[in-house]
Amino acid sequence: MDVSHLLDGLNEHQRQVVSAAPCSKLVLAGAGSGKTRVLVHRIAWLMQVEQLSPHAILAVTFTNKAAAEMRGRVERLLGSNVRSMWIGTFHGLAHRLLRAHYRDAKLPEGFQILDAEDQLRMVKRVIRAMNLDEKQWPPRQACWYINGQKDEGLRPEHIDHFNDPQARVQLDIYRAYQQACDLAGLVDFAELLLRAHELLRDNEHLLRHYQQRFGNILVDEFQDTNGIQYAWLRLLAGSQGNLMIVGDDDQSIYGWRGAKVENIQQFLQDFPTADTVRLEQNYRSTATILNAANALISNNAGRLGKDLWTDGKEGAPISVYAAFNELDEARFIAGQIKQWLDDGNALNDAAILYRSNAQSRVLEEALLQAQLPYRIYGGQRFFERQEIKDALAYLRLISNRDDDAAFERVVNTPTRGIGDRTLGILRSHARDEGSTLWQAAQSLLAKTGLAGRAAKAVEGFLALVQQLDDTVDDLPLHSQTERVIHGSGLMAMYQAEKGEKAETRVENLKELVSATRGFVPPEDAESMLPLDAFLSHAALEAGDSQADEFDDAVQLMTLHSAKGLEFPLVFMGGVEEGMFPSQMSSEEPGRLEEERRLCYVGMTRAMQQLYICHAESRRIYGRENYQRPSRFLREIPEKYQQQIRIRSQVVSAPVQQPNRFSQAPAQFAESGLHLGQRVAHPKFGDGTVLNYEGVGEQSRVQVNFDDAGSKWLVVAYARLQGL
Ligand code: ATP
Ligand code: MG
Repeated sequence: MDVSHLLDGLNEHQRQVVSAAPCSKLVLAGAGSGKTRVLVHRIAWLMQVEQLSPHAILAVTFTNKAAAEMRGRVERLLGSNVRSMWIGTFHGLAHRLLRAHYRDAKLPEGFQILDAEDQLRMVKRVIRAMNLDEKQWPPRQACWYINGQKDEGLRPEHIDHFNDPQARVQLDIYRAYQQACDLAGLVDFAELLLRAHELLRDNEHLLRHYQQRFGNILVDEFQDTNGIQYAWLRLLAGSQGNLMIVGDDDQSIYGWRGAKVENIQQFLQDFPTADTVRLEQNYRSTATILNAANALISNNAGRLGKDLWTDGKEGAPISVYAAFNELDEARFIAGQIKQWLDDGNALNDAAILYRSNAQSRVLEEALLQAQLPYRIYGGQRFFERQEIKDALAYLRLISNRDDDAAFERVVNTPTRGIGDRTLGILRSHARDEGSTLWQAAQSLLAKTGLAGRAAKAVEGFLALVQQLDDTVDDLPLHSQTERVIHGSGLMAMYQAEKGEKAETRVENLKELVSATRGFVPPEDAESMLPLDAFLSHAALEAGDSQADEFDDAVQLMTLHSAKGLEFPLVFMGGVEEGMFPSQMSSEEPGRLEEERRLCYVGMTRAMQQLYICHAESRRIYGRENYQRPSRFLREIPEKYQQQIRIRSQVVSAPVQQPNRFSQAPAQFAESGLHLGQRVAHPKFGDGTVLNYEGVGEQSRVQVNFDDAGSKWLVVAYARLQGL
């Protein structure tokens, strides 16, 4: 059998890893050195040369997108389909195990997944039921605490509060929340992992079965595994299994969420036969980009240390753009992308990366204005939208009446006269009886424990859900969805709302029907009801609709979600002190290093050209702030940078910004405006000119609008009229 194609396009070190006899191994290597490529070839090698069945391999990646890509690449290499191979994220794989063994996992068959928002609501409810003050016990913090404990594998009974009253309350909230989830058949994200671990740990026969089955486990992006994920891998690999992990300590960016880069060292202790392979040649970026990224990351202490080199082209310098403000930054980026497109390149090949989701709005507006199609990863995902969650909540209740999170969500949506008081009665009854809300409602109705109007309303709701369940029983999934959207009154409710937002919501509800129509249950979901399979998919998948995957669009995403990806053209926006590194992290050395790693991840996404932008002034939470360039820019040697100025003046060294107001009044006149002048703007209305900066085309005025507040506007675009 000719297997040479499995080693084609690999260097000597990569080949050694791919073609090694089954073993445990650590591949520790920097960005763009081919770790993911090696993993893909390794899987194909194990199947073709070692004759392993796709059944015997378990591959773990970081996102659903990466998992789908890995599957596709393996299939292309092998020329055959590997549908039955378990390739997925930790969460997806844990979910698959729990579905297959729900009884052993002590879960109801129709258990549902709580996403972060559902979890927050649930925790809120628990805190209220415990008569605690939400201000003193913020639900968000409680979620954080609960997930943190679960990530460490800790149940309430494992935690000692050491008689600290504060710790005791947190623990009480955790316990009560978990009881509520168990009762309602709900599983949050952290619970998926913890329960899957317990499932194997506590069921000898299952553990043996899976250990024998998955003799070879491969993990990408290992540096970002947390305690429970690693414990799960270790359990599954057992003493006989082969675990191959690939990772880069310099790209560990989820420490804030419990990921432990120390797991790399732990792995070497736990798997003493594993050797370490380093890959040092980068195939992704130009020498300039790579050297700049290497220089940046060398500012971190305590690295495992690697040398990364390339024999690729030197490439263009990194372009640094100092924008006036965030609008100017966005406009600049849109302009460059337009140029890129005009030069005959694909929009898909351009990515804009930012530190926080909040930055995307201004960028989106600029792209819209420039008529450049774009696509956002992460952000508000389709399945997280209000109207979609409403519709899903009805579907969830149809599948599982005890789903308290779904019950709370739609009991009064659309409004049917079930107010806070009635809900309060239901909640406290549920608490007293140790029952779910649905059960509480039934028992209160039976005991006539609700007053006339409220009783009628609650009765109506229960009957509605029952009736929806009856009518959709044998229908295909998309017809079920359509019936529920209409039968619940959701469609009518959103149709009756006015405005663009409501229109979008109606569109989205229709889109949900299409999504269910196009839904193909994954292989592992064959035993599940299509409805349950779809609901799990909605909770677990990124929810970025796959359909527009092939559209040519600029890619927008946070730096975190760019991990593992690569693009010919990359923009990093908002590279300013207080933004990146973020305010909080710049005060803590550990977190500052994590921010620096994030910057390293961002820079190393770029293949040909990297732009780093920062604004001198930025509106944050409605307030104008003066911003300084990020320290990370200073950590990149000047020889790799090129400062961009508007009107394509290029200055090779960082320039000192002139005092922005020093020159104002002289040029001010040319715009015909003066300080204190009353002006009118087509969108913002009337206002007073407060300030002025810049020259010629770039000149801007600050206007305090009577209604819209203070804004900086570029005179050339603002269409201001003197009054
Ligand atoms: P990251 O740390 O960012 O996840 P990585 O180490 O996983 O990066 P890959 O994404 O596997 O790196 O590879 C980076 C790029 O280099 C890809 O485009 C890949 O196809 C290419 N590449 C990897 N190895 C080789 C090689 N031996 N010859 C040519 N190209 C290669
Ligand atoms: Mg990779």
